Amino acid sequence: MDHFEYKNGVLAAEDVPVSEIAEAVGTPFYCYSSATIERHFRVFSEALSDVSATVCFAVKANSNIAVLKIMADMGAGADVVSSGELTRALKAGMPANKIVFSGVGKTRDELAHALSENILQINVESEPELHALNEIAGSMSVIAPVAFRINPDVDAHTHDKISTGRSEDKFGIEWTRIHDVINRASKLPNIEITGLAVHIGSQLTELQPFRDAFIRLRDIVAILRADGHAIPRLDLGGGLGIPYDSAETPSPAEYGKVVSEVLGDVECDLLFEPGRLIVGNAGILVTQIVYVKEGATRRFLILDAAMNDLMRPSLYDAKHDIVPAIEPISGANLERVDVVGPVCETGDTFATEIDLPAAEAGDLLAIRSAGAYGAVMSSTYNSRALIPEVLVKGDKYSIVRERIEPDTLLNYENLPNWDP
Ligand SMILES: *Cc1c(COP(=O)(O)O)cnc(C)c1O
Repeated sequence: MDHFEYKNGVLAAEDVPVSEIAEAVGTPFYCYSSATIERHFRVFSEALSDVSATVCFAVKANSNIAVLKIMADMGAGADVVSSGELTRALKAGMPANKIVFSGVGKTRDELAHALSENILQINVESEPELHALNEIAGSMSVIAPVAFRINPDVDAHTHDKISTGRSEDKFGIEWTRIHDVINRASKLPNIEITGLAVHIGSQLTELQPFRDAFIRLRDIVAILRADGHAIPRLDLGGGLGIPYDSAETPSPAEYGKVVSEVLGDVECDLLFEPGRLIVGNAGILVTQIVYVKEGATRRFLILDAAMNDLMRPSLYDAKHDIVPAIEPISGANLERVDVVGPVCETGDTFATEIDLPAAEAGDLLAIRSAGAYGAVMSSTYNSRALIPEVLVKGDKYSIVRERIEPDTLLNYENLPNWDP
């Protein structure tokens, strides 16, 4: 459920017509709904009310500080994967003692940054990282709180590029080795073992892979405890999918039930790192049709938005619903079209052979479910601008990131200084 609906015949973000925002900020732009973010955060948290849960929003899904602040105000923590994200989360008001640092290649500088901010835990993904962390913590005279991310060898049945829990994936420590690794870690002077972590992938549309991974965790906890390790905390990662093109996905409540069934009596504090589930449907990308082009075999709607603004279709073959900003009259004539961007790549395609009401140049369209892995992945490819992000709350809207023009970026480029 989201708050992008037709009201009085026009698409509105909460109570603001998107055409009004387009008029003011120009197209294309991202538009987020505060009420949708709040709703999703609340629904997810309530689904876990049976267990002792802390929800750490996965900042990489949408790192705009205005978006982060909505969740900070609701008591969320953060899952960060870089120093930059850590800085953002703190600036948005997420408390350090609810921040988790994940990622397979944290640099020494990033580890030092995490320790200096005294965050809740660092999720270590390899022994070389563990030793680096122990050494850095020693040099700073602090103890590093560490959870070990295990690779449970579970196939999440999602897109290959966002599967992270198979043995061939680069993430985590093989579950079969974790016992030895933790025994060795417990002898390191500057490491405190807080628990285990798992994250098997993103956009999961089935619950069974979660169940399999959680069962594996539970079994490992039992083995480790028998060996005298306390294991007070489990981090269950994120990954719950959302319906992009009206496909069925499990509800947060069903997910919560799996968590309770498998881990309800494990006596650990549980952390969750949802990203997409909270913000995915809370954002749209508003774009204008530049041309309607009749190709030899297809009709193309050529947009002013492109793959550099929203990479998901070209990167993950993602299918996003596309809707006109003016409500189609019932029984409107539908035309079969390809919806494409202007970038010089065939992959710059948002949809192929979809049926839309007859449209013409100048019309506005909204690409739905663009709140997660949208703006954060955008680039300036083809020397295009980084587009604005707008946050709506009720009948108000605010530009929460300005458009960054190619001219601005050009200021950071230099001709080599060796020319005579
Ligand atoms: C990306 C990521 C998440 C969030 O995944 P979603 O599918 O957006 O919920 C959570 N934890 C880790 C470690 C991640 O890398």
